[in-house]
Amino acid sequence: MNGARRSDAIVVGAGIVGAACAAALARDGWRVTILERSFASSGTTSVGMGHLVVMDDSPEQLALTKYSLRQWRELTPTLDRRAELDACGTLWVAEDESQLAALRAKRDLYATADVATEVLDPRALSEAEPHLRRDLAGALRVTNDSVVYPPGATLGLLDDARKHGAVLRDGIGVEAIVPNGVRLASEVLRADIVVNATGPWAPRLTPALPITPRKGHLAITDRYPTFCRHQIVELGYLTSAHVMTSESVAFNIQPRSTGQVLIGSSRELVGWDAQINREILRRMLQRASHFMPRLGDLSVIRCWTGFRPATPDKLPLIGRWDPIPGLWIAAGHEGLGITTSLGTAQLLADQIAGRVPEIDPAPFSPMRALAAVHS
Ligand SMILES: Cc1cc2nc3c(=O)[nH]c(=O)nc-3n(C[C@H](O)[C@H](O)[C@H](O)COP(=O)(O)OP(=O)(O)OC[C@H]3O[C@@H](n4cnc5c(N)ncnc54)[C@H](O)[C@@H]3O)c2cc1C
Repeated sequence: MNGARRSDAIVVGAGIVGAACAAALARDGWRVTILERSFASSGTTSVGMGHLVVMDDSPEQLALTKYSLRQWRELTPTLDRRAELDACGTLWVAEDESQLAALRAKRDLYATADVATEVLDPRALSEAEPHLRRDLAGALRVTNDSVVYPPGATLGLLDDARKHGAVLRDGIGVEAIVPNGVRLASEVLRADIVVNATGPWAPRLTPALPITPRKGHLAITDRYPTFCRHQIVELGYLTSAHVMTSESVAFNIQPRSTGQVLIGSSRELVGWDAQINREILRRMLQRASHFMPRLGDLSVIRCWTGFRPATPDKLPLIGRWDPIPGLWIAAGHEGLGITTSLGTAQLLADQIAGRVPEIDPAPFSPMRALAAVHS
């Protein structure tokens, strides 16, 4: 940063996106203050799944997830045990011939994007994951996908931010964002820039943002080490994530470093109702047993829900918010915010610094929300 005076940045929200933005800005020389109303209790990051995954719902999504995965790989040597990073890869499983054709198309697309994959025939699939149903048609292994424990990874990012001078003020709820500042209960804090990184709550501070809470259930089993070795996802998950229907479930399981199996996932549009929906949970677990019959024998010890910050076009909102001087947005990451937190932070920091980002930032500009309203 030029000049003698270091400029002030406020990041609102200490979920994984806010933590990553704070770290990137602090590394760039900003004097960063992170304001969090209640750290480690209420954010989506503390209830997500932590699958670091390349996704190809759109070319823009592929670009951002691939870019972010590379940054996770670069960060890996500096991550400590709290992040529980496991480079287990993803297995996308196909039930029949038509899904197998879709898997091959996915493999070809990933090859053009230099994403390493390998098609497994039924025998290789059984060897890779013995508890999967034997009559599956095959799978695509995406070698460089990983999993992390999101709250642990967030603590690491916050440590990095603090190492570069950032300060986390916990228990501080922002009531409003004003030009070059924020209003708290009893004072106004001024800064050159403010980043709204409040996930699904972002529209409460910036009302025009088109972010909707999209509820998801997860269930975790007791410890069964080596029960599964990859993040395993049914190909139909893509449809479940893409279509904004009122509810859907898909098979999606993850091995945890504790030996537990994390089972997902569901999607519902029910506002902020956080209650467990027993019917959806039953369908989700049934779907998992449909692919992995022995899952039904495992003891599920805890279930919970969380709210993905969903946008209508399935892309996050990253960039300057013109109507309020000094305001930048980093929110709306739906079910990919753990994966894309690092890419988001770099994209934001590059734009703020006036550097040319490595991937095109235009599709992620939050200003498209206003363009949609006025078109
Ligand atoms: C069931 C489920 C499974 C998921 N699985 C995955 C996955 O496998 N891979 C993946 O990449 N993503 C996954 N996600 C998505 C991911 O968890 C989210 O996209 C990500 O956590 C969003 O992070 P965030 O920092 O934007 O928001 P949050 O983590 O919600 O952080 C926002 C923070 O802002 C704070 N805040 C809000 N309002 C204020 C205010 N006024 N003042 C101060 N602080 C405020 C909140 O307390 C919170 O801590 C999943 C999500 C769910 C629900």
